[in-house]
Amino acid sequence: MIQFQSKFPDTPTSIFTEMSQLALQHQAINLGQGFADYPMDPVLIQEVTKAMEAGYNQYAPSSGHLILRERLSEKTNKEHGQYFDPDTEITITPGATIALFTVIATFIRPGDEVLYFDPAYDSYQPSVIAVGGVPIAVPLNYPDFTLDMALLKTWITPKTRMIILNTPHNPTGSTVSPAQLLQLHALIRDTNIILMCDEVYEHVIFDNHTHHSPLAQQVLRDRTVSIHSFGKMFNCTGWKTGYIIADKTLTAEIRKVHQNNAFSTFSAVQIAIANYMEDPDTYQRLSVFLQKKRDLLMEALKDSPLKPLPVKGSYFQLYSYADFSTLPEKEFAVWLNKEAGVTGIPLSALTEHFGDHQLIRFCFAKKDGTLEKAAARLRELGRSIQAPR
Ligand code: PMP
Ligand code: GLN
Repeated sequence: MIQFQSKFPDTPTSIFTEMSQLALQHQAINLGQGFADYPMDPVLIQEVTKAMEAGYNQYAPSSGHLILRERLSEKTNKEHGQYFDPDTEITITPGATIALFTVIATFIRPGDEVLYFDPAYDSYQPSVIAVGGVPIAVPLNYPDFTLDMALLKTWITPKTRMIILNTPHNPTGSTVSPAQLLQLHALIRDTNIILMCDEVYEHVIFDNHTHHSPLAQQVLRDRTVSIHSFGKMFNCTGWKTGYIIADKTLTAEIRKVHQNNAFSTFSAVQIAIANYMEDPDTYQRLSVFLQKKRDLLMEALKDSPLKPLPVKGSYFQLYSYADFSTLPEKEFAVWLNKEAGVTGIPLSALTEHFGDHQLIRFCFAKKDGTLEKAAARLRELGRSIQAPR
């Protein structure tokens, strides 16, 4: 029998896989995994068909089709006031998750420490472990999930090689301000620490807040790597297409890994997206659209024992069930799925430090009818459905 030593003895099956399977098993309404249950824009689908018919069916250039990189350069300049050269500073990737991994594999050597904020998207920690780095989860402030700069400072050592920031933040919906980005810069300006910013929810931002990217900060330009996902921008998570923006010195190194782990990204989709996003409304309308859904779910749950936490961006919201049950989060999520027929993600699956606060994450990127149906079931908590012990 072949023997090997697992690099990931403590890494469970992804909570998203686990909860989606449970949802299917109990025919629950799935507000767990982050994907929309409404169709994407057929216009973009048509664009892909057109690109395929036009012959874009062989390998794309390794860094991506230039027309798309040019579009992204213009967009970044318009939104953040910084020019990134499409030739040397923008790279198209097969999704954001692989982009995150590529950047980690590019810069992290065995023993290097990578700081990220807890709670966190679940791919950061195993990606760092895969390349021999040391992942360190620095807790966000509780209960507003803002950055704790003083705490972060205590974790920065000569071994720190990278900080991963995610704004708007999954799973809490918190965001960072320009002042915080400048504080962060003050902490790392005399180091060689790379700042990798996961901005996949950049266009899902509510209540007239603005998304603040480190790309907008000239002082952070030479050390920032920014990660994006078209899956989130255009409601096609299954397409797994994204991109990386970074200064040319960093990009040159990132492309050495990218060309050997992916080489290139789905060709026709790139052409289609480049044509589609010529009209910025295709992604700018997302915030208003999703804010209505966030508000619909909150309103529909007003008479339930679930209490929403504030959310500034992303398509997730944490709800507290502390008034209803004392069960730990994972047990509660499993119970809720089975007994109420609604699936959510327990916060505990995405955190190392927070322990149990009776919080569950719901994804509101769902049809209005799905949200209404889920809310009707959740309003039965405390009525026909009694609290579990
Ligand atoms: N980062 C965050 C914070 C996410 O929530 C997700 C999941 N959608 C990703 C990255 C991955 O994006 P993609 O599906 O493009 O790999
Ligand atoms: N990002 C999505 C979420 O947080 C899911 C990604 C995945 O399934 N791996 O729900």
